[in-house]
Amino acid sequence: MTHKTDIEIAQEIKLQPIEDIAEQAGIDLSDLELYGNYKAKINYTAMDKLKTREDGKLILVTAISPTPAGEGKTTTSVGLGDALHRLGKNTMIAIREPSLGPVFGIKGGAAGGGYAQVVPMEDINLHFTGDFHAIGAANNLLAAMIDNHIHHGNELHIDTRKITWKRVVDMNDRQLRNIVDGLQGKANGVPREDGFDITVASEVMAILCLSNSIDEMKEKLKNIIIGYTYHDEPITAGQLNAHGAMAALLKDALKPNLVQTLEHTPALVHGGPFANIAHGCNSVMATKMARKYADYVVTEAGFGADLGAEKFIDIKCRLSGIEPSAVVLVATVRALKMHGGVSKSDLGEENLPALEAGIPNLMKHLENIQEVYNMPAVVAINKFPTDTEVELALIKEKCLELGVNVVLSDVWANGGAGGEDLAREVIKLTELTQALQYAYELGDSITEKIEKVVRRVYGGNGIELSREAHREIGKLEALGFGNLPICVAKTQYSFSDDPTKLGRPTDFTVNIRNVKVSAGAGFIVVLTGAMMTMPGLPKKPAAENIDVDSKGKIYGLF
Ligand code: ADP
Ligand code: MG
Repeated sequence: MTHKTDIEIAQEIKLQPIEDIAEQAGIDLSDLELYGNYKAKINYTAMDKLKTREDGKLILVTAISPTPAGEGKTTTSVGLGDALHRLGKNTMIAIREPSLGPVFGIKGGAAGGGYAQVVPMEDINLHFTGDFHAIGAANNLLAAMIDNHIHHGNELHIDTRKITWKRVVDMNDRQLRNIVDGLQGKANGVPREDGFDITVASEVMAILCLSNSIDEMKEKLKNIIIGYTYHDEPITAGQLNAHGAMAALLKDALKPNLVQTLEHTPALVHGGPFANIAHGCNSVMATKMARKYADYVVTEAGFGADLGAEKFIDIKCRLSGIEPSAVVLVATVRALKMHGGVSKSDLGEENLPALEAGIPNLMKHLENIQEVYNMPAVVAINKFPTDTEVELALIKEKCLELGVNVVLSDVWANGGAGGEDLAREVIKLTELTQALQYAYELGDSITEKIEKVVRRVYGGNGIELSREAHREIGKLEALGFGNLPICVAKTQYSFSDDPTKLGRPTDFTVNIRNVKVSAGAGFIVVLTGAMMTMPGLPKKPAAENIDVDSKGKIYGLF
């Protein structure tokens, strides 16, 4: 059976003018800034007018531990939004914007898939409204100002060996990971070791996504630590007077982007921080705005629930005062089979024992949502064309045996119509008003916070701190950063820090290599292994398949 590609499906749909989508969503046209016919930004001044409106219910879509087989969180988020819309609910979707790195790297976009996509998917995947370029420019302005300061005498005594601020570009480009710059004599800067990260890994991205206003964003930019002096004192962007100009570059990037789904449900696609060294969800601004316009807002968090939902709740919700009303945990037959020991090449074959053996992974994520975070949850089985009826029946049966609330979702093949059962269940869950709980308290010490996440969320025995991590924790607590939430950078493939331990590993400790503060964004990054902040392209990059014709129509984008 051959399927239409995502881009073929997307290009067949006649989009509605974005003003019509806005009008339908109750967005005042005077708050809309058009970017062509099908994209618009919503001015943050709209939030002032919306202040007195009640907040809509927020539904978080998360997933079991990812496998190379793919889970479909974005697809499910978009399809669930369309299903709620079909049921007559005033709905909005709030998800992240894609980075160019993965678009040209591995196959797979970030605009959903099949009949559950946000459109225009070509634009959303390529440049969109320029937010990421603005973030890159702000990041690189600060980098230029650091080296310029050193070139002109280094009044702040910045130790060039301890500069932590890197330059960024929105591309998978391993060649730039580690470089030496400032070469060729006195007129051309001060030579030093340097490097590039991908734009989505920039702290500026995390800051933009956690800010409620330009003023708050400027304050956070001011607090960015760019490196240390010869005496180990932190140096901030504020000391270099960079924050004002950085905020100026970001004034439009901070405005949420409005687009539509294939079924014309309004969607805010805004911000896209890395899910390892940052918190991995769309902007607070977009989520809050969507809740003012809509009664039901569907949002997504990156990776599996141990990382994505944990950070969504313990960082984003806590720092912004947002609370979800229900959680959807996406699982697939394919991924469960991988957790049950099947290799990727054998996923096409029916394998009931492996499917059943994968269920503990799902159970642990579900227990976390219900018991650690006190949120009502439903498991959505995202149906793939390769799933057999027997497999689907087995997983349903096993889930029911274990008391798990489970619904089949067929939005990839059928759009919103394939998600109505899920939508009805979600509506029911949002009626339960359960109070959100966190995995740890901000008042806990940094070490206690890490231990609580490892014990309660990952199911590990505890942590092993390296000497560097131990020293750095002491330093950060002395500098007054002890009360920040933590952001664990860990492999997404396992609850543990070992990517080969699939399923529900027990009896493990997590090795903490180091910690570092993102003082602007307002969290402490906990590094559990080597963390890649500048990916590379694979041997055959997706870029080789992408093309554009003489009329500007794009081909080969997934
Ligand atoms: P995530 O948000 O979890 O990373 P996506 O929703 O972006 O996952 O989906 C990843 C890829 O898998 C996309 O290319 C999408 O088209 C594909 N996909 C998702 N769900 C299905 C499905 N039910 N059947 C076939 N392909 C799917
Ligand atoms: Mg996604």
